Amino acid sequence: MKPQSFKDKAIRFAKTWRLVILAAIGAFAVGTGAFDFNFTVTSWYILLLLGVFIIAAGLLDIAHRLKGRLPAHFPAQIQGPLLWTVTAWMLLRMSGPYSKHSIIIPAGFIAWLVTTYPPKIFLFPILFAFIMEAGLTITGQQPVAELALNMLVYGLITVLLVFFARSQAYRKKLADSIVRAKKKSDNREYAKDLGITASGPSILETLPEFEAIENITDSFDLQLELIRQALILTTVAVLWPDIHGRELRLRNISTIRKDIQPGPYPIGAGITGALLRDRNEITLAPVKANFSGLPYYIKKGGVGSLLAVNILDNLQGESSPADRKISGILCVDRTEKSDWNESELTILKLLGKKLSLDINMGRQLYTMNRERNAFQQVCIGLRELNSVLGLEPVFDASIKAVTTLVQTDFIAISLLQDEYHSIVRAEGLHAKNLLGLEFSKNEGIVGQVMKINRSLPAGAEYRGPAPIFSKEQRFPDFGSLLILPLQKEKGDSIGALTVAARKPGVFTRHHRDILELIAAQVAIKIDLAQAHEQINKIATIDGLTNLANHRTFQHAFDVMLNRAQRRSDHLCLILCDIDYFKRTNDTYGHPFGDQALKIIAETLAETVRKVDLVARYGGEEFAIILEDSNEYGGLEMAERIRKKVEALSLHQDNTVNITISFGLAAFPDDGDKKSLLIDHADQALYKAKTSGRNCIKAWSEIT
Ligand code: GH3
Ligand code: MG
Ligand code: MG
Repeated sequence: MKPQSFKDKAIRFAKTWRLVILAAIGAFAVGTGAFDFNFTVTSWYILLLLGVFIIAAGLLDIAHRLKGRLPAHFPAQIQGPLLWTVTAWMLLRMSGPYSKHSIIIPAGFIAWLVTTYPPKIFLFPILFAFIMEAGLTITGQQPVAELALNMLVYGLITVLLVFFARSQAYRKKLADSIVRAKKKSDNREYAKDLGITASGPSILETLPEFEAIENITDSFDLQLELIRQALILTTVAVLWPDIHGRELRLRNISTIRKDIQPGPYPIGAGITGALLRDRNEITLAPVKANFSGLPYYIKKGGVGSLLAVNILDNLQGESSPADRKISGILCVDRTEKSDWNESELTILKLLGKKLSLDINMGRQLYTMNRERNAFQQVCIGLRELNSVLGLEPVFDASIKAVTTLVQTDFIAISLLQDEYHSIVRAEGLHAKNLLGLEFSKNEGIVGQVMKINRSLPAGAEYRGPAPIFSKEQRFPDFGSLLILPLQKEKGDSIGALTVAARKPGVFTRHHRDILELIAAQVAIKIDLAQAHEQINKIATIDGLTNLANHRTFQHAFDVMLNRAQRRSDHLCLILCDIDYFKRTNDTYGHPFGDQALKIIAETLAETVRKVDLVARYGGEEFAIILEDSNEYGGLEMAERIRKKVEALSLHQDNTVNITISFGLAAFPDDGDKKSLLIDHADQALYKAKTSGRNCIKAWSEIT
């Protein structure tokens, strides 16, 4: 242990005594009548602030005690009850003459509330209340008779409440609730002590019960009780250092003594400190009368002889103290002062070994439990993955499945497209800069993974500046990295899944196995989703022009018309037909006709706004729906298209001049039904054809 500086000592002193100091200041202030003058607004504020401060500190203290964390040091044990007494007393004393005697009731209640938790220290609040009341008497603010009366009331209330607190029914209820509250946090700490949560995955947090740990605890309890009874001992206890090695906790105990202090205790003190530092075993017999080296006893003495052995993490380590790893300490004592005999020593050392084996078994049980849970999580993740269809939802579900399994700081999905792999989804660190980037096929570890269809790097460690995606992308803040191929069964990879974390050693062999399983499923789903999107596209898009097909036009018209009706918006339908297209085909051939159709389709698509719809209505006919446009807007748009098409140079020798005729009908002026609007636009188009072509006619014009 390094020597403490004066500052450290001062901080420690203030920490240990902070509540007592606070209480003393409060008591002094009240007792000397600091507030007993005509109040100004400021003095009320000061009092209020002090009260809030003390109450907060007191609440913290009670919360701590309710969690079973009773302070190890004597002053810290009493500061809670003192503080509460002072607070209640002070606030109520200040709040008016009528409460002069009644203030002692809440003070008593609070004192009791705190003192119902072991150890019993209810005398202290009574004593403190007396000092405070006496302060008022000495400073001449109340007669002696009043002091006596107050103290009598206070004493009686406290005694009555303590009687109640000791009643069987109450004690049982209280004990049950404390045990319940403690169990959960204890199990977590226990798991930490066993070192099984150190680099655990996030699923650990979702484990419903630490069954394995409960098993060890029960087994420990039974063995301790057995040995205590067999060897006629006072106490058999198992203590654990916490993961940081700062504190020692009492884990299991079998005892006949009542003055047990459950800790935690600072490490390095007494017998346990010596044991942890440099020895595997300590025996003391006889022990001196006022011995206080066992941290869990509140009272001094009562120990005749004692023995403490280390519970080693690994039994082979016993022979060489240098590389031993200690799980805990087994401590036993008895009232008899005689030396431990050979058979007792053997039994106790064997118990130490047995407990060590139990810990290992518990660890294995725990790991099995965790794996079982991991598989459950994977199943849930995969179920979700299987229930979605589109590409984006598949990416979402994949990322969710992976992040429930491992703690990642970065996750990306890359897909292989021809000669490139591109990042189609990225989350976490650097994700923003990476999303959408394309890299050449074999670039980076990602490229390699897709090429050899195997996860990389081998140890899941990110060493140095290895290029993940390409040489331009460096991630010095990654410690762990795993890139898995997205590979359909025995086929080529269609992409890769990249996971990374800041901390090194996050992805274990176990993680890799499960992630590979998930990646295989993700690959199948992405493949399916891509096929699905392809089918969808074929069903809705015209193959030659890439415009919406007739079916999509009909459906979209329904939707747009519906919306326009709901919002009382306008809508304009334009039907257009290429003039003398048969002749064009006949003159220049069908392939040229196809090419012309494509170019005209592009012209239409790029001229309208994003919200409008252009569809291939039939052979050389197109339909345009203009959102929120009336006839006037439609005429303008049609004219713009007409001019553009007329100006197109479609053939090298410039002899081809293609034109279009337009027919137009507007909602709601020219009709409020789809069929009617189409019919009217068609009639208008016919009119345009008969009026010399290459022109625009609106339905309203021709009627
Ligand atoms: P107008 O509309 O001006 O009265 O004369 P038109 O010659 O355009 O009219 P018609 O309906 O008689 O002929 C339409 C022609 O469009 C017939 C067909 O050869 C051509 N056509 C339809 N679909 C395609 C296609 O996909 N590719 C090509 N190259 N031609 C097509
Ligand atoms: Mg036609
Ligand atoms: Mg035509």
